[in-house]
Amino acid sequence: MLAWTRLLVDPQDAAAVVRALARPPIELRQVDLARVIALARRHKLDMVSALTTAIESPRVPPDARERIQHFLELHKAASEALDAGRPDLLARVVLGAEGQDRAEDRSKPGGERLDDALGETLRMMREEVLASAARIGGRLGELRLDTDLDISHGVVRYLELLKLAALVQRPAGQAVAEALADINVRLLAATTALQREIFQTSSLDETLLAERSEIGGHDDRVRAQAIAPREASSLGPFLPRKGTGLALSASDIETYRSCPLRYKFARVLRIPSDATLHQRFGIVVHQVLERYHSAGGETLEQLLELLDASWRKGGFDDGKREHDLREKAGAALRSYHERLGAQRSGPVSQRSEPVWFERPFAFRIGPHHLRGRVDRVDRLGGATSEEYELIDYKTSRPKTVAQLKDDIQLSLYALAAHESWGLEASQQAYYYVLDDLKVPVPREETDAERVKDTVLAVGEGILGQRFEPTPSHAACSICDYRIVCPAAEV
Ligand code: SF4
Repeated sequence: MLAWTRLLVDPQDAAAVVRALARPPIELRQVDLARVIALARRHKLDMVSALTTAIESPRVPPDARERIQHFLELHKAASEALDAGRPDLLARVVLGAEGQDRAEDRSKPGGERLDDALGETLRMMREEVLASAARIGGRLGELRLDTDLDISHGVVRYLELLKLAALVQRPAGQAVAEALADINVRLLAATTALQREIFQTSSLDETLLAERSEIGGHDDRVRAQAIAPREASSLGPFLPRKGTGLALSASDIETYRSCPLRYKFARVLRIPSDATLHQRFGIVVHQVLERYHSAGGETLEQLLELLDASWRKGGFDDGKREHDLREKAGAALRSYHERLGAQRSGPVSQRSEPVWFERPFAFRIGPHHLRGRVDRVDRLGGATSEEYELIDYKTSRPKTVAQLKDDIQLSLYALAAHESWGLEASQQAYYYVLDDLKVPVPREETDAERVKDTVLAVGEGILGQRFEPTPSHAACSICDYRIVCPAAEV
């Protein structure tokens, strides 16, 4: 109900639309959600408009179109109720549809519920077969050694589709186990040796029989198990691939490590989310510092003028929170300027001079492509020195060295400096701009290995589509996807 209320008030609220689509009575599959979100991004549409476009798209399978149509009908009825100032009607439209769905289901006898479950599995398999046909067909022209294997997998999926269709239409009163044995013999007679092996090692039969014995015919969990490996692989085209690996940034790695499901929402499904006030504030501070240094800025006045200009363009309101943040930014930049002056004076051995800003890097770890930018690189100890410090600006609350124990961002930057620029950084630090606090993070000999192991493990998790949530107050309280997430801890 919360999601519906939010999306009716603001059709740009993509997270609320995704939540309503993912839950009963719509239950749009994740891969279809990803297609709709991609459509919205490509055509710069809000999600509701993208759904209207999606029902005309040949890339959206028929079943998904039906579900989207149902959503749009509900949306229209709910919008009319809202416009008429009838919250009672609105609640009836939204909650009524869910209630009706469940009530209809409960009223059915066990046998009918079993056939509903088989029918639903058949429907999901049908979509999977169509999707895999497109996938396998699309790769036939590639020069590969495992084309036969691909085709055999496709054929077996089709045979499994036949199996489900035959089960749904088995004679009245015949048990699933009995029908299954007979159908398998007939289907196996038509297979090659390779297809036979794939067919016989599939877990579909096991799941169908478990479905029957465990819950008498209608259990989403069991059905999802039957389709899960296939459905999971269907998100493959949405992974941020580059070559045989992934395109990754330090922030991608951090996001996956904090919660794999959050990574999936942000980087695989790419659910649009509006930047929070604090995020916009952080962007402005980063921009001001980058522009100041790039323009060879020297004076405090230049710095504060840049803040004025960026603040105006940032579209901030006149509210108290915005006013307080503006004051905070001004004070922080004064401290920044003072600190800069201090580090440029004093004995040569203790001086440091910023030499690069927002310096880009790109390098590989295993099959993965790492990209990013380092906010600032300082030369330590005078103009001829070859000692460098990598600095990352933060506008969040400061962390201690102990709290940064498992952090890999700066160590990844140090590896990037070595691999991408041929530069050995001897020091690295986070600079918490708002608190004018620099927290040096000690370098360890094992840093590079730790970074590589972490990147490879994260890459393996993403390519294996392991996106189980790891909720925690710390992660969920700053997560943009709480409304979509079934595991949010708030
Ligand atoms: S709300 Fe929590 S569990 Fe859900 S995706 Fe975000 S961080 Fe993960």
